[in-house]
This record gives sequence, structure tokens and C-alpha cells, in this order.
Amino acid sequence: MPAPITPSAHLADVRYEIRGALTRRARELEAAGRDIVKLNIGNPARYGFATPAHLREAVAARLADSEGYGHEQGLDAAREAVVAQQRARGAQGVSVERVFIGNGVSELIDLSLRALLQPGDEVLLPSPDYPLWSAATLLNGGRPRYYRCLAQNAHLPDPDEVEALVTSRTRALVLINPNNPTGAVYPRPLLERLVAIAARHGLLLLTDEIYDEILYDGAPFQPLADVAGAQPCLSFGGLSKVHRACGYRVGWLSLSGDPARTAAYRDALQLLAALRLCANVTAQWAVEPALAGRATIGALTAPGGRLHAARQAVLDGVRASRYLDLVAPAGALYAFPQVRADALPQFDDDAFALRLLEEEAVLVVPGSSFNVPQSRHFRLTLLPPPAQLADVFVRIERVLGRMALE
Ligand code: PLP
Repeated sequence: MPAPITPSAHLADVRYEIRGALTRRARELEAAGRDIVKLNIGNPARYGFATPAHLREAVAARLADSEGYGHEQGLDAAREAVVAQQRARGAQGVSVERVFIGNGVSELIDLSLRALLQPGDEVLLPSPDYPLWSAATLLNGGRPRYYRCLAQNAHLPDPDEVEALVTSRTRALVLINPNNPTGAVYPRPLLERLVAIAARHGLLLLTDEIYDEILYDGAPFQPLADVAGAQPCLSFGGLSKVHRACGYRVGWLSLSGDPARTAAYRDALQLLAALRLCANVTAQWAVEPALAGRATIGALTAPGGRLHAARQAVLDGVRASRYLDLVAPAGALYAFPQVRADALPQFDDDAFALRLLEEEAVLVVPGSSFNVPQSRHFRLTLLPPPAQLADVFVRIERVLGRMALE
């Protein structure tokens, strides 16, 4: 037999379980006629959250202007809107030359690490993380070094632990704020300590702020660029979550801080952006109207709003549970409950998620998928209607009850 085609060894440790084996099993069950409650992906459109009409209209109106390639860094109007947003947030040194529009934040995460890393360079990542950050680090020859964001510390990092991980190979410190999967929103004094660590060790700061305006109960989001000042900082944002347009595939990054320190790095970003020609032009027309005023998502996260009610349904479900604990999410679109060791000492998150799918037709993501060893957590999205989430917790409790009896 001719030799099989084998994949690159670079992929050996690369995982993305949010769309992994469990999702494939859910699709099989659906094909066999089962109705699966899919809580694995933060896809607002799936749960009836429409992209605001003024964004859709802006894109439709500019279709005829979208037929050619655009600038590799993005449309001027889109980049100017990002500059205005970042300056209003206190970012220093931001200009249209230092803003890049990409096909989603996903593409820009990869691009920013590809432009930075040499083989063996280390990147400080949160554990749990949004697993693309680990994957992109590995695919670009880097080594993830994880700082823990434990439930007993409200899922906030411990700056001393972060600093203890720094070696001569460390190049970058990544933050996800508001956090996916935990919903933690980082307070300013914590950000100040993390910026000081980056400054002491010459690290590039990268902050994934894609959930920046999805906040509950008045949680105060602090843009890192404001705290970072002259320290080089990449801030990521996009249309997918706050503006409920994940299918548009539009994200941005802005480079703030002292331009002299990042001139060569900026040029590398531009080269990589040019290699892929440009981001989808059509959808970029939505960026300016999206950033022109306050995001409309505030009405959904405020009391009386659908996301606020969904989060409350999850908090109620956890409170009524004999097995679960939860640090209430302060932002983003997820809850990250934990199965208590005193209630269920033997617990395997992968086995639990599989049973929940097979026995109760609910798809969640096991905590270990977010680069946490031996996790007792699982993640679910807050996007379904509150009544459906309440029912999901009844199903979760049934599975945990059965596991407790075995
Ligand atoms: N960063 C975080 C923290 C996310 O949760 C996601 C998507 O879920 C992304 C980035 C990717 O977003 P995009 O749709 O802009 O590629």
C-alpha cells in the first residue's frame, strides 16, 4: 500500500475541544434524530440574537464597494474607528498604522504570535484559557507556560505566581479579560501589577478583550492599554460577541505603547497581513457603525435583559444543586461551574460531559479542554433562553445524582 499522508508533527499537542470529539458525537446523535441542547459554542445567532440592524444595513449598503481586495491592514474607516475607541480608552501611541483588521480575532491571535515567536520561546497564558491561545502558541513554535486562575481566588491570577514563571525565554504575557471560560473581570490594581511584571521583564502584553462590553451587575471593565501606558500592548476586539456578528468574521488588534520599541514588530505584522492579502472587505463596513456609539448589548446584560436573566437562571440552578459551585461570572457569555469534591469525590470531567450528552442530550465543554489539569469544571454558554437553562440544570443534577450512586 502506498504510504499514508501524515499530518505535521506541529499538531501533536494542539487541541480545540470546543468543537472536538464531543461535538462530533452530538452531530451523530442529531443525525439519528435526537434533539441536543448545544451549550458548547458562544454563537449568539444560534440562540436568536440578531446582529443589530444598523450593522447589517451598513454592510448591505457597501456591497458594491467590496468587490476588490482592500488594504492589508483593513479599511481606513474601520481602522480609524478602532483608533478612536482605543484613544478614548486611554491607549497611548495608537494610529491607523498600528491597527490591523482580521478575519476574526482568531486570525489575529495566530498572526500576532507568528510575528513574535522563535522556536522555544515561552508565552505566559492563563489556565483555564481560551484554547486557541495555547494552540496558536504551539503552532508557532512557542511553549505555553500557564498561570493559574483558580476558583478559590475568584478565577483571578496571582501576580507572584505569574512572575515566578518568567524565564530568559519568556516573550509575552497573555490576558483574557473579561475571561472566557470563567467570566472573571480583572480589577485595575491587578492589571497594574501584571503590567509592572511585563515592564520588568520586557514582555509584550497581549489582551483578548473580545467580551469588553459584556458585563453584569456593574462589573468595571478596565482596558489594559490604558494601564499599560508606554509599555507595548496588543489589544484585541471584534464584532463576534458584543456586536453579535460572529459569521461576519471581523476582529481587530491595536498596538499601543512606545512606537519606537515595536517598530520592527509592527512591520512583521504588516508583512504577515499582506501575505494573506486582506480581511473580508464586505464585513469590515460594519466596524465603524459598531464602534460609533455604545454597544447595544448593554440592554441584554442589564436587569430585565435576556443575558442577565440567563445568568440568573444559571446562578439559581447552581444554588439548588447538591453538587455544584460557581463563581458568578462578572462578564462574557459563559459560566464555569465546578463539581464539589465533598459532594462527589471521584469525578472525571470528560466522562461527565459524555454522560450528560448521551443520557440527557446536553452538550457542554469539560474544564480540562481549557488547559486545566484534572479539572472538576465544565463550561456552558449563557445564550439559551433562561427557561431552557433552568431545565439544563435539572438534567445536570440527574446525571450527577447517578454518578454519586455508583
Ligand atoms: N477570543 C476569545 C476569548 C473567544 O472566546 C473567541 C471566540 O469564542 C475568540 C477570541 C475568537 O473570536 P472571533 O470570532 O473574532 O474569531
